[in-house]
Amino acid sequence: TSTIHILSVPIGNVTKEEACAFAFKCIEEGRAASIATANAEMVMRAQSDEELADILRHADLVVPDGAGVLWAAEQIGKQFKERVAGIDLACRLVGEAALRQTPVYFFGGAEGVARDAAANLEKQVGKLHIVGTHSGFFTDEEEKQIIEEIRSGGTQLLFVALGVPKQEKWIRDHLYELGPCVCMGVGGSLDVLSG
Ligand code: UDP
Repeated sequence: TSTIHILSVPIGNVTKEEACAFAFKCIEEGRAASIATANAEMVMRAQSDEELADILRHADLVVPDGAGVLWAAEQIGKQFKERVAGIDLACRLVGEAALRQTPVYFFGGAEGVARDAAANLEKQVGKLHIVGTHSGFFTDEEEKQIIEEIRSGGTQLLFVALGVPKQEKWIRDHLYELGPCVCMGVGGSLDVLSG
């Protein structure tokens, strides 16, 4: 797939379906992968946060989330196939995970948010293989337990909602401790899905 650079942030020119297919190809092959969703806010933040910029350059897939990113591409004479909103991609991945009974884990948000989001998603897509859920507020000791629960439960799809850029940094720091797992930063999406 081709890449369009928006203010030096490489963003994949993929559709939601292509992004979903990429994730499940990694899962089938037993490969760890990181997925980030770039909106205008994240692109602007990457201009001053060199660590975030570096993470986005090394992410396995960055999707064009947000009208601002599509608009910016047009300004340089390029066009993304479509907008891939983080919440839409997350729901699409969860739908596929239900069909395949892919082990999933929901991590982040205030107490109960991840659990409620998982329960609401099951109402939409049917029974999921849920390894676990955990809030996004934790001690160092709890973090070790969360990582162990994700890993030992055979999680293949992990949603991380710690806000930008914390979730991107967390995924970079821990991707290879989690077993082969596709990890996606979902920001406030769990809050929306929990409501
Ligand atoms: N969050 C969290 N742990 C933290 C900080 C934030 O779980 O240490 C959660 C917060 O509860 C919210 C989500 O991260 O559910 C997204 O936060 P925010 O809306 O601030 O970030 P954005 O979506 O703009 O990246």
